[in-house]
Amino acid sequence: MHRFDVLIVGAGPAGSFAAERLARGGASVGLFDGRPPGEPKACGGGVTSKALKAWPHLLDAVGRTIDELDMYSPSGKHLHLKLDEPFAVYSRIAFDTFLRERARKAGAKVFSEKISARGFKQIDESWIVTTQSGAEFSASWLVGADGANSAMAKKLAGPLPPAEMEVAFGYRAPLPDDGNAATVVAFLPSWVGYAWAFPRLDHVSFGIATTQDAFDHESLDKLLWDFMVSYYESYGCRAGDPGSMRALQRVRALEPMQIWKAQQSTEGDQIRNELKKSVEAYAARIPGLAPRTWDTRRACGKGWVLLGDAAGFADPVTGEGIYYALRSAELFADAYLTGKPLAYEQRWREDFGRELQRASQMRRRFYGNFWGAPFTDRMIEFARGHRGIRKVLGQLVAGDQGYTDLKRKLARSALKPL
Ligand SMILES: Cc1cc2nc3c(=O)[nH]c(=O)nc-3n(C[C@H](O)[C@H](O)[C@H](O)COP(=O)(O)OP(=O)(O)OC[C@H]3O[C@@H](n4cnc5c(N)ncnc54)[C@H](O)[C@@H]3O)c2cc1C
Repeated sequence: MHRFDVLIVGAGPAGSFAAERLARGGASVGLFDGRPPGEPKACGGGVTSKALKAWPHLLDAVGRTIDELDMYSPSGKHLHLKLDEPFAVYSRIAFDTFLRERARKAGAKVFSEKISARGFKQIDESWIVTTQSGAEFSASWLVGADGANSAMAKKLAGPLPPAEMEVAFGYRAPLPDDGNAATVVAFLPSWVGYAWAFPRLDHVSFGIATTQDAFDHESLDKLLWDFMVSYYESYGCRAGDPGSMRALQRVRALEPMQIWKAQQSTEGDQIRNELKKSVEAYAARIPGLAPRTWDTRRACGKGWVLLGDAAGFADPVTGEGIYYALRSAELFADAYLTGKPLAYEQRWREDFGRELQRASQMRRRFYGNFWGAPFTDRMIEFARGHRGIRKVLGQLVAGDQGYTDLKRKLARSALKPL
């Protein structure tokens, strides 16, 4: 049997970053991931400027930085935001490989193996972990960084009810032939959540994130297809070289989208047909903990710890989880290396737990009504006419504006002269 100080199940951002930091600090680390090679984790791949400032080395991963964003409200109002602080968009294969290789270089042993749901047991002070190929490993600490469907979290912290999971699905679609594509976030009409278009280096990631309890795949998929077709149409593309990743040719300059309207034009039909041939679909869940669950759910215990999505650490309003995956990894590694691994529980609560709990309290209001219209509609309307509100919105996108003082900040900005 192979013995390590720490075994980490899952080499997404949380697992790989924890492995790197623990190994650099002198711990012996075994890191496992069962994802087949070349299969990306379903994700928009957006990494906030807050994360890029905290860990500037992330900019060494191959990605695209975004400093302008088009936002649309449920009723179709448009806001073009120039971001003071750019964010980055990565292909998850590139991002995850980058972080995993750093862990390997720091000294962690990386195994391309899956741990089965029953493949871990605790005997006295030790964990015994068995891979699907039957190899056995032991350690005093077991880290669950195995994502939103974490088998470890179900066993160690208890399963989450379906209402505390969000769903995200979408398509990877061709980049226009000039490689130039708008970044879009559009709040959904009649549903909680939003649609996005995130251009990456070789494709555009489209998706919708919404709540699981109201999930109606057929209607939402239709909405997403209309969104994708109007994206290419409005931003000046038409179907070109069939079947290639440059299948959409630029014919006009970028203009705001005619959003949420199915385009019944021949051009629209040609784009739709071209997309049907070339897109790759994906879907996955994102944790969206209810306000009270933040008080009761634990992320560590005797010899075990949960990080990132496995612990439920994603923003309940936006579904953003990469920052929290990395930050939780860092907080645990630091707690472990200073000889107080269980201090992690208190540290994540102080560091970002309150903020995420506040986001979860605000979700209903954020996607609810305000002065007789969706709050997101009002927010975009106000931001269009007010530089201060635009700035706060830019900071929210950058990850620099939290939810605890959002209302106060918006109100204060609104009172300032235009
Ligand atoms: C469609 C979609 C879009 C999203 N867009 C964004 C976005 O733009 N920005 C953002 O910040 N967040 C986004 N998120 C959330 C983000 O993807 C997650 O919060 C983030 O990936 C969490 O990182 P993690 O390391 O905790 O888990 P993951 O990235 O899920 O990594 C878990 C790893 O564990 C492995 N694993 C699982 N079980 C086992 C096992 N039994 N044995 C071995 N390995 C195992 C998996 O293969 C995986 O590689 C999105 C999520 C979805 C679903």
